[in-house]
Amino acid sequence: TLSGKVAAVTGSTSGIGLAIAEALAAAGADVALNGFGDAAAIEAMRAKIAADHGVRCIHLGSDMSTGAGAAGFVEQVAAQLGSVDILVNNVGIQHVAPVDEFPPEKWDALIAIVLSSTFHTTRVAVPAMKAKGWGRIINIASAHGLVASPFKSAYVAAKHGVVGFTKSVALELAETGVTCNAICPGYVRTPLVEGQVVDQAKVHNMSEADVIRNVILAVQPTKRFVETGEVGAFAAFLASDAARSITGAALTMDGGWTAR
Ligand code: NAD
Repeated sequence: TLSGKVAAVTGSTSGIGLAIAEALAAAGADVALNGFGDAAAIEAMRAKIAADHGVRCIHLGSDMSTGAGAAGFVEQVAAQLGSVDILVNNVGIQHVAPVDEFPPEKWDALIAIVLSSTFHTTRVAVPAMKAKGWGRIINIASAHGLVASPFKSAYVAAKHGVVGFTKSVALELAETGVTCNAICPGYVRTPLVEGQVVDQAKVHNMSEADVIRNVILAVQPTKRFVETGEVGAFAAFLASDAARSITGAALTMDGGWTAR
């Protein structure tokens, strides 16, 4: 059980981050949500997590594209909930373009949100974890942290960076009771991806099932999406005491993608 622990999850008003926040709350942790969206919808998510699981749940709209926003998120969670014991660096964006046409401002934004925010939250969270002798840092990388696809140079670079950062931090903290790991999902069914299925089915004049199988999941041998709840359950396991010897790992949940 994670009762008495506080989890801070970046980018958690949607998709994988929200599922991780729910899984950690279900295990008993107090949870801080982060991310953008409709204020009433976010308040409904926050209230539901608190009510469903009997935990404290707050939301902070900190902008992870700046170092001050990322650092401030961890500081404010610690101020409001007492500590940050479990840090989940989940926030992410994507931009797809050939490298010679890749807009430099998109490159900078993607590296800031995916890679640098992970550094800034971690550097602020680590001292208190070390002092307590317990902590969990869980970075949501991607199969693209281990292998590449064309036209995703910034994302692939940032996610490989997250995997490297994970290993270095794990080694630094190895004797402190703080673990640091990366989860590397393949394609996960999030609202974003579901929209792509509908759009591609129209463009290709294919059934949605064929688009999933032959277009989107061409790289994923299981030919089905990872579900957000699966990533949530994995994160909850990594946060548990049973996972204390797992550190510095880039753990795949990719339906066999990187086994090829
Ligand atoms: P999503 O778009 O559903 O959610 C992203 C979240 O981040 C939202 O809550 C959004 O409000 C928030 N966000 C965006 N920019 C922000 C900013 N500047 N500051 C604060 N919050 C911000 O995404 P998702 O599909 O759930 O992806 C979550 C993570 O998982 C990302 O790191 C992504 O790269 C990774 N991932 C996703 C997949 C997939 O197939 N969906 C696969 C592998 C890895």
